[in-house]
Amino acid sequence: MKAVRKMKSELGAELVTVDKPKIGSDDILVKVKATSICGTDVHIYKWDEWSQNRIKVPQTLGHEVAGEVVEVGEHCKRIKVGDYISAETHIYDPGDLTALLGQFHIGENMKILGVDCDGAFAEYFVVPEIVAWVNEKSIPPEFATVQEPLGNATYAVLGEDCDVAGKRMVIIGDGPIALFAIGVAKVSGITALFHIGKYDLNMEIGKKMGSDYQLYANKEDIKRVEFIKDHTDGFGVDIVLDMAGSPQALDEGFKMLRKGGRFTAFGVAAKSPCLIDYNNGIVFKGAQIHGISGRKIFDTWYRNRNFLASGLLDISPVITHLFSLEDYEKGFNEMMTRPRKSAKIILFPDEKELEQAKQRMKK
Ligand SMILES: [Zn+2]
Repeated sequence: MKAVRKMKSELGAELVTVDKPKIGSDDILVKVKATSICGTDVHIYKWDEWSQNRIKVPQTLGHEVAGEVVEVGEHCKRIKVGDYISAETHIYDPGDLTALLGQFHIGENMKILGVDCDGAFAEYFVVPEIVAWVNEKSIPPEFATVQEPLGNATYAVLGEDCDVAGKRMVIIGDGPIALFAIGVAKVSGITALFHIGKYDLNMEIGKKMGSDYQLYANKEDIKRVEFIKDHTDGFGVDIVLDMAGSPQALDEGFKMLRKGGRFTAFGVAAKSPCLIDYNNGIVFKGAQIHGISGRKIFDTWYRNRNFLASGLLDISPVITHLFSLEDYEKGFNEMMTRPRKSAKIILFPDEKELEQAKQRMKK
């Protein structure tokens, strides 16, 4: 089968022919319909410091996926051949304390698909049955594949208590997950959404996803903190989602938050530890801090399926490019272009699936 693999410890990846993977008794074999490029794949493609320490070559990239189950291991009970599935990429160890306590998305022995084992940029891939999520048939593969990053967005927006209706929110960042988060926030009842980003294309997509105010992080024509205070009766917003992780985002984010509000930390800082105003930003403000690593398994998947299948949430503005898997290099080049000229990029191993998706999306 075809697979996009990291073959050597250097920049790039190669399209190679490898054997179809074999399944263990608890695994399923899936024929890929669509797979999408994530920032994590770009880190591995670029072979940055993080990936040099984490990835063992050779390895197949990719973790965001939708496909059809073609074989199941002898111990599998829930998933059947023919099921249309996506995969939760945090492959949890049921023996982790966190898993025993119901926090399946984090754990000491958790593995990540496409990071710690072969991924989904291929015609077929293998995952344990426990992380397979059966998709609603009406959700097309180009949407079903992005439920993984969409799940980050949904978890970040809703937090642990889902207390967002009738509230006001700032989202800092303009990558695909921030853009998804705008849509989720609006359908979940956020009444004023302030979007802070850098790139024209992404700010436009944010507007299509429902942002009410667009503020540039890299322009000083508007004083962002004051603007947000002025538009929230002087208090600041109820919820700040940091999806940038920059020193500026951390500094301004806490200033934009009202007393007693929630600061959700999703952006990964380029350098950590990093500076925050601990006393005024957190202690005296009575702020709640919520770190996001992954999705709530399977609560976020369930909500996203319902958001997408009902048509309540339209994520099509965020999907900017459709390519065949063979054109993976085009996809990675688009992802690495700055200023950004893309948001979410979908790859299709099968040309027929690509053509059908192009018809549906008119892209
Ligand atoms: Zn991802």
